[in-house]
Amino acid sequence: MRIFDPHLHASARTTDDYEDLHAAGVRAVLEPASWAGQPRTSAGSQVDYFETLLGWEPFRAAQYGIAHHCALGLNPREANEPGCAEILDELPRFLARDRVLAVGEVGYDAMTPAEDVAFARQVELAAGYGLPVLVHTPHRDKALGVRRSIDLVRESGIDPELVVFDQLDEETAPLAADAGFWLGFTVYPEAKLSPERLVGFVQEYGPERVLVNSAADWGRTDPLLTRVAAEAMLAAGFGAERVEGVLWDNPVRCYGRSGRLRLEVGPVADHHGGNSIRRG
Ligand SMILES: [Zn+2]
Repeated sequence: MRIFDPHLHASARTTDDYEDLHAAGVRAVLEPASWAGQPRTSAGSQVDYFETLLGWEPFRAAQYGIAHHCALGLNPREANEPGCAEILDELPRFLARDRVLAVGEVGYDAMTPAEDVAFARQVELAAGYGLPVLVHTPHRDKALGVRRSIDLVRESGIDPELVVFDQLDEETAPLAADAGFWLGFTVYPEAKLSPERLVGFVQEYGPERVLVNSAADWGRTDPLLTRVAAEAMLAAGFGAERVEGVLWDNPVRCYGRSGRLRLEVGPVADHHGGNSIRRG
C-alpha cells in the first residue's frame, strides 16, 4: 500500500524515521513550514528554513526512496513576531519554486490582529499562484477559530477545492465540509484523534475529500500513524483500493493542483551542496 503523508515535519525527524516510513509504505510527504518551538528572531531565519525545506530535506528523503515536497508560509504563532512577519515580503519568490506545492501552514493561533493580516495576505497569495492553502485550525477556541477562518477564506474568493482545513474534530469537520474544503485529520498517538475515530470520519464524510496525516514534528507525535490509520480502515471493512484512495490518491489530487508534484524519486544524488548524510 502506498501512503502520501500530506503533513509531516520531516526535518524534525531522524533518518530512522525515514527508514521506518518507507517500510510502512510511505512514498511521499508534504512538509509544511512551521515554528521551531520558540519564535525565530528574524525573517533571515525563515529564509534559511525555507531553503532547507527546498534543498537538504528533499535530498535526505530521497536517500530513503521518499518524494519530499513542502508548503511554505508564515505560521500563525510567528505572525505575532514583528521580525518574522517580514518574511511575507519574501514569500512570493519562494512560492514560485518547483517543490512548493502549497501555502502553509497558515491560520489562527490566538486570533490576534497580526494573525488576521498574515492569514489574509497568504490566502490571497495562494489564490494568486493557483496553489492550495493548508490551514491550521487552532487548538484553543477551535470552533470559533474555524468559523473565523472560513469567513476569511471565503472573503478571499479562493476556489474552495484549493483549501485544506487541518486538525479537524467532530465539532469542526461539519463546518469545513459545508464550506466545500478538503478535510484534514491528524492522527495522534494519545487522546485527540485515534485511528478508530478517523474511520468514523471517513464513513461520515466519504473517502473522496478526507486527507489523513501524522503532523509528526519534534513533539509527542508518531510519523507511522498514517499506516496505523490505514490498517484501522482495512479492519473496519474498507477495501484496499479505497484505503489507498484516501491515503494516496486524495493528497495526489489535492496537491497535484499545484502542477508541481513529482512522485518519482529518480536517481538519488550522493551529495547535496558537497554534503552527505553519511558519517565518517
Ligand atoms: Zn504542522
